[in-house]
Amino acid sequence: MNKFSFITVITTISLFFFASCDSTKGSTDGDNQADVTGNVSIEDAHSFSNTNQIRTTHIDLELDVNFDNKTIYGVARHTMEHLKDTDTAIFDINGPEIQKVTLGKKGHEKETDFIIGTKKEFIGQPLSIKIDKNTQYINIYYKTTEDAGALDWLDPSLTAGKKHPYLYTQGQAILTRTWIPVQGTPANRITYSADVTVPKDLMALMSASNPKKRSEDGKYHFEMRQPIPVYLIALAVGNLEYRSLGKNCGVYSEPEMVGKAAWEFVDLNKMITAAESLYGPYKWDQYDVIVLPYSFPFGGMENPRLTFASPTLLAGDRSAVSVIAHELAHSWSGNLVTNATWDDFWLNEGFTVYFENRIMEELYGKETADMLALIEFQELEVELDEFMKNGQEEDTHLKLSLNGRNPDDGMTDIAYVKGAFFLKTLERDFGRRRFDKFLKGYFEDHQFQTLTTEQFKKYLIEKLIKPNNIKFNVDAWLYEPGLPKNCISITSPRFEKIQDLADQFAAGKDIFKQPKKKKGKKREPALARDQYTPQEWQVFIRQLPKKMDPARLALIDEKLDFKNWGNAEVATEWFCLSIRSGYKDPRPQIKKMLMKTGRRKFIWPIYEEFYAAKGEDLQWALAVYKEARKNYHPVAVGSMDETLHYKP
Ligand SMILES: [Zn+2]
Repeated sequence: MNKFSFITVITTISLFFFASCDSTKGSTDGDNQADVTGNVSIEDAHSFSNTNQIRTTHIDLELDVNFDNKTIYGVARHTMEHLKDTDTAIFDINGPEIQKVTLGKKGHEKETDFIIGTKKEFIGQPLSIKIDKNTQYINIYYKTTEDAGALDWLDPSLTAGKKHPYLYTQGQAILTRTWIPVQGTPANRITYSADVTVPKDLMALMSASNPKKRSEDGKYHFEMRQPIPVYLIALAVGNLEYRSLGKNCGVYSEPEMVGKAAWEFVDLNKMITAAESLYGPYKWDQYDVIVLPYSFPFGGMENPRLTFASPTLLAGDRSAVSVIAHELAHSWSGNLVTNATWDDFWLNEGFTVYFENRIMEELYGKETADMLALIEFQELEVELDEFMKNGQEEDTHLKLSLNGRNPDDGMTDIAYVKGAFFLKTLERDFGRRRFDKFLKGYFEDHQFQTLTTEQFKKYLIEKLIKPNNIKFNVDAWLYEPGLPKNCISITSPRFEKIQDLADQFAAGKDIFKQPKKKKGKKREPALARDQYTPQEWQVFIRQLPKKMDPARLALIDEKLDFKNWGNAEVATEWFCLSIRSGYKDPRPQIKKMLMKTGRRKFIWPIYEEFYAAKGEDLQWALAVYKEARKNYHPVAVGSMDETLHYKP
């Protein structure tokens, strides 16, 4: 998943915390050896499953997607592997209604007993199924309910075409169990196949082999032959069209958006080539992107073979493509080598942010890559401050301890940016050539496996630190709060130039006046928006005082028109500053954004600002939220309800 939060995540953490949840499962100990099947004997505080005794190796899904009652009728046929003697196979569910469970091959099935255990917050319920030592196939018949937090059912009004309904799933971190009964730990890898029936006028796609055209009868067959953790099982159903962008890549979207998407992601093929030249061959055959409707709560989700992306990436100027570089990078870090538990989440995201930045450097040069890294570093510093202020030092460790909490609490800038800066610092000390060789080997040696932080540490010491005989404070980075002193510092002249411009404006200088003509030189033009990139303008806004005179902000809108800019990153920063400053001109644009997009990265900080502003501002925002709430994915609704203290 792409990085989605600013400071906002932290304020909700204490609310998510569930003190009475005393899981008997401890955290990981890291002594277990990884093998091709994954770290199945690792204890995972976020799964009831007994994968150390019996584990799923393959799931064959039969799914009937019914838009009339917003229900999926499913059969999940699990192929099992016995690792130890047991008479019970335990699965995770959180929402699905179990109708019956059978054992045996399809057509030769016998019903068996099952028990559904007590519900635990965030995690759901254990589904315990009676088996014997010969049980090879377990078939779970079920239907989804309103509690399926992974499913976003959209009425036609929320799509680009406005004619057809739409459905998409979001499995990470532990939501797959809300629509499919699974052994929900990322430590176990499975292959899957699926037969999916949808209304005839719609196309279905999965994180698997995909059709390029709509079928006549609404029936689709999918295969995912590479083993994946279950959070990567994904489904999208809608009125969809495909555009190829190269020999093994392309883009899906509604017909109304597909042309725009193909234009925006024209560099996709180049990105794949750049990524492969860095860290070895792409192992998933095909790489496509689907641009979803606006309610999708994230910038992107790295579902294998088919990245799910927000239409907010279609900025019209290719300025938001780094999210695609990020999701593509996950084809190595995360999808190929996966965190064994959610406490090791930084192994997915820290590597991916590092890798994303390297792809951006290959494609657009070091200056651009450094700017992007610095923007993220600023966000990390703000977040670290907040954590420290709130006494949440432990949440700034790379290795987390999320036992009893929602694993989404770990999706902060610590995993993403502190993780990436750890790797950048290693790169600085060991040199790029040696570090790249190490990383390439790391991906190759652990492909289709899962890893704990401890296993990574051991590998790092053995393969990089010891052979080169260089001292490095690995434990401080992994297990201590804040940022170690040796953290790499990045400088960017362009970054400094735009910060200087912001300082001049804040000091009252007229930055829009055309510079005087210098003797013998052409007259320089007056300041205009296209002289700087959206990232630079983002830095400009951040550098301004937290609150400003509304008249000064109005002047910027008059000259640079930030409030109407299609780039949502800039718009969000601008709207937040406007709200804090009591500058009300952009209200119609803010309302438009909140009504249209459900991407949490953008709407969350805006609602936070309104909540902090209180009074009339908050009342206005609450009225908008009341109207917009139905347009958001359940994941976003949960966060906004908390932030606004909203009770439906
Ligand atoms: Zn990610």
